[in-house]
Amino acid sequence: MIRVSGIHKRFGTNEVLRGIDLEVRKGAVTALIGPSGSGKSTLLRCLNLLEVPDRGQLELDGPPIRFEPGRRLDSRQVLAIRRSTGMVFQNFQLFPHRTALGNVMEGLVVVLGWTPETARARASELLGKVGLAEKADSYPAMLSGGQQQRVAIARALAASPKLLLCDEPTSALDPELAAEVVEVLGALAGEGTTMLIATHDLRLADRMAHHVAFLQDGVVVEEGSPDRLFRQAADPRTIRFVRTLA
Ligand code: ADP
Ligand code: MG
Repeated sequence: MIRVSGIHKRFGTNEVLRGIDLEVRKGAVTALIGPSGSGKSTLLRCLNLLEVPDRGQLELDGPPIRFEPGRRLDSRQVLAIRRSTGMVFQNFQLFPHRTALGNVMEGLVVVLGWTPETARARASELLGKVGLAEKADSYPAMLSGGQQQRVAIARALAASPKLLLCDEPTSALDPELAAEVVEVLGALAGEGTTMLIATHDLRLADRMAHHVAFLQDGVVVEEGSPDRLFRQAADPRTIRFVRTLA
């Protein structure tokens, strides 16, 4: 359903992604693991076009969009990809001057042009879903990190994206608060939300993912089921990396 082919991305002379091929199955959780600096965040950012890949192709349940140096992007396709993806960041990135409800409503009203009433109903529904109905009127500063991240998840889901991208969603949180975020992500997974989660938490990947891809130096070195990756890896680089889980 979601197919990433030959994605390249460089920053100056630093070639961060060197030809990424990856398929993300609809309704499943795919975990992206790999050492710090391997390009996980850059790949997620390329998938919702926060960064524009230099080369390669993205297929997100629609016609493929191709990237080549010098090629102009079709703005309708760019918009379609942005709307098909929702992003959850390590540091939540909520709007500090908006309430929890306001944060979830914002994109619906400002970007998608929903009426405030319709957006408010949708935002309330989503805050309920992440267990924060009673925090609708709280500002981010009044919320715990775990609560802020749950608001961020609700916000990312607001426009019903086809793919939820999560970049180290639990890394900024104490274990107790991370657990409540994992619980929400697990419930979403149970409902068949298509997710791509970059994480250095190998236990989380092992427990939650249906498919795991191991990224190193800007390429997918190996991918497969959690069992395959964590217990029967073939590539010595994967074996070395996942040893930390044992
Ligand atoms: P990971 O998420 O796996 O830790 P990143 O994708 O954040 O890896 O980073 C991969 C490499 O890309 C790093 O060397 C990082 O410094 C570089 N990088 C990421 N974003 C930028 C940017 N906007 N400008 C320059 N270099 C960047
Ligand atoms: Mg990262």
